[in-house]
Formats: sequence, C-alpha cells, structure tokens
Amino acid sequence: MSIFCSLQFPDTAGYVGFANLPNQVHRKSVKKGFEFTLMVVGESGLGKSTLINSLFLTDLYPERYIPGAAEKIERTVQIEASTVEIEERGVKLRLTVVDTPGYGDAINSQDCFKTIIQYIDNQFERYLHDESGLNRRHIVDNRVHCCFYFISPFGHGLKPLDVEFMKAIHSKVNIVPVIAKADTLTLKERDRLKRRILDEIAEHGIKIYQLPDADSDEDEEFKEQTRVLKASIPFAVIGSNQLIEVKGKKIRGRLYPWGVVEVENPEHNDFLKLRTMLVTHMQDLQEVTQDLHYENFHAV
Ligand code: GDP
Repeated sequence: MSIFCSLQFPDTAGYVGFANLPNQVHRKSVKKGFEFTLMVVGESGLGKSTLINSLFLTDLYPERYIPGAAEKIERTVQIEASTVEIEERGVKLRLTVVDTPGYGDAINSQDCFKTIIQYIDNQFERYLHDESGLNRRHIVDNRVHCCFYFISPFGHGLKPLDVEFMKAIHSKVNIVPVIAKADTLTLKERDRLKRRILDEIAEHGIKIYQLPDADSDEDEEFKEQTRVLKASIPFAVIGSNQLIEVKGKKIRGRLYPWGVVEVENPEHNDFLKLRTMLVTHMQDLQEVTQDLHYENFHAV
C-alpha cells in the first residue's frame, strides 16, 4: 500500500480549500477578506502559469502574450501582478500572483535580479509608508508573502543562476522550491534530483521557508500531514489546463500515449501537497514575512 493512502488530503476537486482560513486568522481579517501575494520565479517555459492556473482553478492570464525567441533575446525581466478575488463558502481571498516573465531569458542576470528585488523592496517601502500614515486601519498588504522558485527537471540540480538568485532574495521572501514538470522524471530520478537540490541548498547556505513543526497539542493527522509535507520539499509538481475524462470523472491531467498523469493525484506528483502547504500555512507565511523579512528590511 502506498504511504499516501493514509493521508488526509482534502478532496479538493473543484475548490482550492482555503475556506478553513478563518480558523487561522483573526475575525476582522476574515470580514475584510484575506490578502495574500505569491510570487513565481523560474525560467520561462517551466510551466509556472499552468501551475498557478491549476492551483487556483482560474485563468489568471487570459490575455497573456507569448513572445517569440527573437524577442526574448531583447527582453529584460518584467513584473506582472494579477489579482483575483476568490470566494469559497463565504471566505474571501484576495490573491495577487506576481509573475516574472522573461526570467532566465535576459542576457544579464544581474539586471533580472534587480527588477525582482526592487519589486519586493517597493512593496515593503509602500507598507512602511502606509503604516506610518493616517489611514493605518485600511492598509493593503501587497508584500510578497511567498515565492515559488521553479527548478528545471532537466538539469542535474540547481543551476548557477538558481543559486545566485535564491541567495539574493532569501532574506527578503519565503522561498518554496518547486521542481517543475515532474512528469518528465522517473521516480528514481525525482528522488535523486530532490536530494541533490536539498544538498545544494545546504551547501550554498540558501535559506528556504521552513515549515514549522506541528504543535504538540495538534491532532495526529495534522502532525502526520506536516511530516509528509516537510519530507516532500522540494515539491515535484505537474500542472495542466486540460480536463480529461478518466473512469467517467473529469480530472485535470496530462494525456500521454501510455496514460494520464493526474494533477490532483498525490501518487503521481506533489501538487496537492504544495497546495495543502500553501493553504494551511498562509498565516505562517504572512507572519514570517512580517517578523523576519519586513524586520530585515527595516534594519537596513
Ligand atoms: P511559463 O513560461 O513558466 O509560465 O510556462 P507555461 O505555463 O506557459 O508552460 C510552458 C509549456 O509547458 C506549455 O506547453 C505547457 O503545456 C507545458 N507544461 C506546463 N506544465 C507542465 C507539466 O507539468 N509537465 C509538462 N510535461 N509540461 C508542462
């Protein structure tokens, strides 16, 4: 029996699953809605937009223009922030996804880092400004609470660009490393790549987001879930914008000549674990942003 069978991942078919957020947050913020900003970084073509659309069951980029190769050479990284309001069972989430198209295409990676770092700093700056202003009660929190860093499944670990970039932002934002397009890896390759990435992260002193241990008074199920989530980092995920019929049920997946890879099947990839991590740790990600990264920003 697979170890996943005993896990209590919510049946997320058709919903994201943040409706339990009120348990985590103060009532006031529930009324006003929950604000969260997620940044996605990684070379273009790694499946970032597809994964984001799969995660939030919405098309965040309906009018995105995909540049050709010739244009890419000219490009510097751009920042694209899209905000959607999602409501589930009366709970509102105002989600902003900050995408960084052009990352890795720019010839000068330093320029590319600068734009992204500038964006993160600008949000801190704005928050600081609003916090000291008169209208403190209605501050919109646009600080970047989490950064999914997409790693290519085709390399043998982290590329020098990955190392350099993660080090440039690790004291500013919570980094969650993600292996893209995990369907291109066999189980053995996936495990080897995960180990290699973790070793390199440690070797280079890169600080990634640390999932907090479950409190001792939490129930066993939650503790087990936390253990499994921790053991899955870096999450090896797949995304798809397509619904495929499998045994009479429409599921999100990728159809290959030999079968279907199911996005929301924990035996096929870590997509559900990534989503569970995000949804159950939104508040912690915000607190770490406030207590650690925002404080770091203050200190300089
Ligand atoms: P982005 O540039 O990183 O936002 O990448 P896109 O989401 O636009 O995806 C680029 C290409 O990769 C598209 O052809 C997608 O269909 C494909 N793709 C996206 N996710 C996956 C995945 O999980 N596995 C595989 N094999 N292909 C994917």
